[in-house]
Amino acid sequence: MDETHATEAPTDVAAPVRRSVLVCGVVQGVGFRPTVYRLAKEEALAGFIGNDTDGVTIEVEGPLSRVEAFLARLRTEAPPLSRIDSIVVSEAAVTGETGFRIVASEVLGRVSTGIPADAATCPDCLRELLDPSDRRYRYAFLNCTNCGPRFTITRRIPYDRPQTSMARFPMCPACQAEYDDPLNRRFHAQPNACWDCGPRVSLVGAEGAEIAVDDPVTAAIDRLLAGEIMAIKGIGGFHLSVDATNEAAVMRLRQRKHRYGKPLAVMVKDMAAARELCLLTAEEEALLLTPARPIVLARMREGNGIAEDVAPGLPWLGVFLPYAPLQHLLFADERVRALVMTSANLSEEPIAIDNEEARTRLGGIADAFLMHDREILQRCDDSVAAVVDGAPQLVRRARGFVPLGVELPLDAPPLLAVGGHLKNVFALARGRRVYQSQHLGDLENLTGLEFFKESLDHLMRTFEIQPQTVVHDLHPGYLSTEWAKEWAQERGLGLIAVQHHHAHVAGCMAEHGLQGPVIGLLLDGTGYGTDGKIWGGEVLVCRLDGFERFAHLEYVPMPGSTAAIREPWRMALGHLHAAGFDIEPEPVRKLLGATEQESRVLTRMMERGINSPLTSSLGRLFDAAAAVVLGRRTVDYEAQAAIEMEGIAVDQPYEEAAYSMELAGGDWAARDPMKIGTGPLWRGLLKDLGDGVRKPRIAARFHAGVAAGFVQAAVKARAVTGIGQVAMSGGCMHNRRLARLLRTGLEAEGFEVFQHAQVSPGDGGLSYGQAAVAAAILAKQR
Ligand SMILES: [Zn+2]
Ligand SMILES: [Zn+2]
Ligand SMILES: [Zn+2]
Repeated sequence: MDETHATEAPTDVAAPVRRSVLVCGVVQGVGFRPTVYRLAKEEALAGFIGNDTDGVTIEVEGPLSRVEAFLARLRTEAPPLSRIDSIVVSEAAVTGETGFRIVASEVLGRVSTGIPADAATCPDCLRELLDPSDRRYRYAFLNCTNCGPRFTITRRIPYDRPQTSMARFPMCPACQAEYDDPLNRRFHAQPNACWDCGPRVSLVGAEGAEIAVDDPVTAAIDRLLAGEIMAIKGIGGFHLSVDATNEAAVMRLRQRKHRYGKPLAVMVKDMAAARELCLLTAEEEALLLTPARPIVLARMREGNGIAEDVAPGLPWLGVFLPYAPLQHLLFADERVRALVMTSANLSEEPIAIDNEEARTRLGGIADAFLMHDREILQRCDDSVAAVVDGAPQLVRRARGFVPLGVELPLDAPPLLAVGGHLKNVFALARGRRVYQSQHLGDLENLTGLEFFKESLDHLMRTFEIQPQTVVHDLHPGYLSTEWAKEWAQERGLGLIAVQHHHAHVAGCMAEHGLQGPVIGLLLDGTGYGTDGKIWGGEVLVCRLDGFERFAHLEYVPMPGSTAAIREPWRMALGHLHAAGFDIEPEPVRKLLGATEQESRVLTRMMERGINSPLTSSLGRLFDAAAAVVLGRRTVDYEAQAAIEMEGIAVDQPYEEAAYSMELAGGDWAARDPMKIGTGPLWRGLLKDLGDGVRKPRIAARFHAGVAAGFVQAAVKARAVTGIGQVAMSGGCMHNRRLARLLRTGLEAEGFEVFQHAQVSPGDGGLSYGQAAVAAAILAKQR
């Protein structure tokens, strides 16, 4: 050993050091400060913690070994609802202070901006709820730092009680003591409440008068079991509820709500009850139990006792578990087995949240209301998820996820992306974060637009983002496009239009940190193309900031335009006509239930190009196939025909022989896209039908054919571009069979395949992709 070492002063292990620690992520309103307080006390460290603009700031002082132990435990013992994105540690000067404090945000001179997502009742609170000796026994609004409403009860930042709808309920001394004690589970739990000081549940009749009963919850259960329709106030809005095992009650709900066909979600007590209804995989069970408690679309068990009309003609059921104490109380009654819990709205209108609004809008639907006096300040539907090809996928990203951010692979200046038309979700971006709004429904009318504006105001306030640029869909006729242009003009902001399918693929790329180029497989219903036609079956060569069209499904006419979306038999005639079949002879008409006159009129329309826009949509190809195979003449909800085609094939092997598609034409150097033709596919399908092949088998062959056609097109794209990465997106990626066939087919060809994980592949994810494209375009300009 070198002598110089011996002359150094030995390190004094007990000499104090001080470290400043900045923790970013979801760390506010989730019990992070009390956890840090407890850890610091246990390690006998001095210092403080306070909320900061983008996270929490901690300073700790003590022996180095203790400080290091604290930093290690910070990661491993973080509270369940928190998510640590980064921890930055820097050295600070030792101050000699003693004791550890939790300081108010003002002390740090910065505003905290975080509002956490709503979270399901935690096991500790559930135990108290059902414990007769607890002071909160059967109290429907109990919560703690590990659970409870957040986003939906908050008016503005910072997330403190006076800014929430709990402001009008002053805490009693017992609740206040919990709130002030850093070692209590309810330390700074903003919605903390009890029987003595908090909100109350009431039973209200259809005419709006309160019904005097001893226990409104038990009275509501009695009514549900008698077959009545109850409107039940939840976390993000009202639910309409009926006994899910009562066929007549379910039918009455459908009639009153004017909602036929579209499946209804069912809530059950716990996992054991969910297993009685559905065949659940481990991934599906994990998804059901996440704090967001989404509706999970899972395979239904035969003879599970659920009314036929809950999910007519489908092999899946949307099932979910209670997430609010009031819901747990309903299921604590042993008589309650399964309840339909569907958003309380008419068709695609926003969900009702206000007591008065609910009484007027739902008075004609509900027989009675189970209400309470805590206001919901943000509408938020239940989230919907499914396990697709072994991985969780969000169909609808709402309660429990909003307003959590999703990462971008590059910095964005403050911007607003307004999304699309159906299933609208907008997004605000700043830096590397994109904050998507809750699911807002279809942006077709003023009610939808009002909800959009109300929600935008709220999120802009919440995150203090003032957009400099507004991003919209290329479609000139979308209400969202018109609104974006007007809003940007009034404020003198920049505008960027993004092609619908470029945004879809860019979203998938950005989620995986890719900037391209990649081969984008885009399988969707509707999107406005750069040539003014309706796209939706596309092979794109994509970068975040731009794309080229390599191939697409051959254009076919949509006779009757949007009528062809509501009436798949029209699409079938369009497809068969384009594939060269004579659609007027009797056998074809009989297949589609079309009259002689209908097929004659449609033929003329298509031949003369009257009201028959051209489309390359895969969604419309699915519609056409469902019309031919299943005789599906009209649809009650979007994508119904495609969902039924997938449904009928559910038990078929994946190895089923594929119908073929033909690739033709195209000149990549001249940017002339290749065409994916469906003639051979239709010939194969019609032959099988004629030969009496079973319909599930035909549906499986159809899926296999579509997947094989797009895999072949990707192989062609790789041959000329050398690109080996494929990103898949679009609404058709919700189709489990198609997603799996595509992934396995592409991997067998040696591709690296990327799919959505945090945002929806459908139009609900569009605004995230729009933000990614705009960020890349703006970065290039700088
Ligand atoms: Zn709790
Ligand atoms: Zn209290
Ligand atoms: Zn789309």
